[in-house]
Amino acid sequence: MAVTISVLEAIVASSFIVAALFSFLAKLLQTVSLVRRGRRVNRWNRIGRRLWSLFAGGLLQTKIARQTYAYVLHFFIFWAFVILLASVLEITAQAWFSGWRVPTVAFPGVWTAGQMSGALYVSQDLIAVLGIVGVVMALFRRLVLRPAKLVHEGAGDALRVLLFILGILVSLLLYNAANIALAQDVFAAWRPVSSWVASTWDLTNPVHLHLWWWAHVLLLFGFLAYIPFSKHTHIVFAMINSFFVDLEPKGALTKVDLEKTETFGANRVEQLSWRDLLDGFACTECGRCTEACPANATGKELNPMLLITNMRDTLLDQGEAIQSGETAELPGMLQTVHTPEAIWACTTCYACVYECPVFNEHVPKIMEMRRHMVLMEGQMPPESVGAMRNIETNFNPWGIAWDQRGKWAEGLDVPVLSEGGWNVEYLFWVGCAGSFDDRNRRVVQAFARVMKKAGVKFAILGKEEKCTGDPARRLGNEYLFQAMAKENIATLKRRKVRKIVTACPHCFNTLKNEYPQFGGRFEVIHHTQLLKELLDKGKIRATKALREAVTYHDACYLSRYNGIIQEPRDVLLKLNVVTIEMEKHGDRGFCCGAGGARMWMEETVGEKVNHRRLSHVEATGAKNVVSACPYCLIMFDDAAKTKNREDIQRQDIVELLEQAAP
Ligand code: SF4
Ligand code: SF4
Repeated sequence: MAVTISVLEAIVASSFIVAALFSFLAKLLQTVSLVRRGRRVNRWNRIGRRLWSLFAGGLLQTKIARQTYAYVLHFFIFWAFVILLASVLEITAQAWFSGWRVPTVAFPGVWTAGQMSGALYVSQDLIAVLGIVGVVMALFRRLVLRPAKLVHEGAGDALRVLLFILGILVSLLLYNAANIALAQDVFAAWRPVSSWVASTWDLTNPVHLHLWWWAHVLLLFGFLAYIPFSKHTHIVFAMINSFFVDLEPKGALTKVDLEKTETFGANRVEQLSWRDLLDGFACTECGRCTEACPANATGKELNPMLLITNMRDTLLDQGEAIQSGETAELPGMLQTVHTPEAIWACTTCYACVYECPVFNEHVPKIMEMRRHMVLMEGQMPPESVGAMRNIETNFNPWGIAWDQRGKWAEGLDVPVLSEGGWNVEYLFWVGCAGSFDDRNRRVVQAFARVMKKAGVKFAILGKEEKCTGDPARRLGNEYLFQAMAKENIATLKRRKVRKIVTACPHCFNTLKNEYPQFGGRFEVIHHTQLLKELLDKGKIRATKALREAVTYHDACYLSRYNGIIQEPRDVLLKLNVVTIEMEKHGDRGFCCGAGGARMWMEETVGEKVNHRRLSHVEATGAKNVVSACPYCLIMFDDAAKTKNREDIQRQDIVELLEQAAP
């Protein structure tokens, strides 16, 4: 393979390559220096786990695989670039060393060095074609299918990048074909596609060789120089993001050291962590996060993709001032990234983070902005103020007298730990909804009856139980959360609790994932897990056939945050009910609208999230929606009443179980 380059051409090509490399590196270093302005967080622990994430998420792109079409096209393009690296080196080297080849070594007794080179060229030829197929698929999606998530301001940039890639791959094949046409490639037999091109078109004029060499070099290094100025910085930073992934439990918000911290939350980009800032450059602007967002889907201003890209653009716009420390006059993120209304619209359902192919973390940024509003500016939706005050005074957001907490259990003969002398396996953590909301009292009563019937030894804390603090923390009120957490942990330790079962996914998540931040380490299970175990062991038997078809709604704090997806379905299977899945289910489930303390806020913009979710139930035709979360149950009750669909029954899974196993 050889193109003859004149000295003048070599000088021009070399200058271009050096300039492109310089531009690429300079911009990259500038970006890294900006990212380093973020708050410090340690993401250098558990290196083995991080390397695995880099391998699976970065190289194998497993998160993209959640969407097959996109996965196939990305896979082709990504591996085309990796495998063509040797070819890129060879062609570029032609500027100085005509005929230079990437050296290969023999596999003694198996393949000679020549055969190894041949294998390399076959794979390059084929992957170049697959890369072109990938680009054509991507262009088809963007220009013909046009999914809403890909129609945004950054779409023009994506097209430019795709055309660059197409040009690089096509010019490579044509250059190889011209070489073969001129009988200069001794490896012609190992290049089936290039040989076919050479036999199809007349490329015997040496001008072709020159032309395609120049086209390839200009496109390749032009693309390299363009990358850091485009959204395609993700080619570099997505890999890095997959290594610096968050390895803490998904449901645990970061702990704030209230003693040592003076500034809470973030309203300036540099108050976010460096990993938060990195997200902006890893973003591919694929729109998956926004497509999955229930708030955005129902007409709210919140747009997780824009949250990330606006944060990045703010960092770039304000970079110079941030570097020089002159930030006093700059607008904050509540002006440049997202408005307070948009930030309050988040249900913390985690769908955005879950869907993001490059491991971006939207929820922590939203929480930092909420913390800033609440703790630094005393700003929160007025209707949520009452709920917070109720937690402060009566230790529950409903505001019912704290000493009424154990009232739901009257007549059920449920032991209370403070009354002493009980030999129990589980503490039943009832939660505020189960204790104070009339509808959910019926659920916890059913659960208590089922446990008793199955011989589970359990007790409750009664008046000693307090709100876990979940609504306060999701609202941004870290002070109140920590006060609740510390008091509850002290009680649990005083009562020597080791195992906890709860019917509330929010309590479950906080007790299991957040209390360890304050020294509260307990074995926590959700009631769906215990019910499955009791059914599996035959301690409960479903004896009554239930005729109606049901659909199961996944609570976000069970499914996406804690991976409890199969257990409730196993329970339903044992109850012999016909289950019809909603289109959005499992880890793709659609929020009920209550998480993230949205339960305590008005929803005045767009369609109500719970109404949308009820429409998903309606689409199944099932006459019973079963959930395993008190908040979801309240939201479905509300939607059924206001949409005049009370003919659809709303039940907790344990109520259904009690019906099947009377
Ligand atoms: S957590 Fe849920 S509601 Fe919040 S931005 Fe992400 S997808 Fe939207
Ligand atoms: S944040 Fe993630 S999911 Fe959202 S647009 Fe960027 S890459 Fe896609």
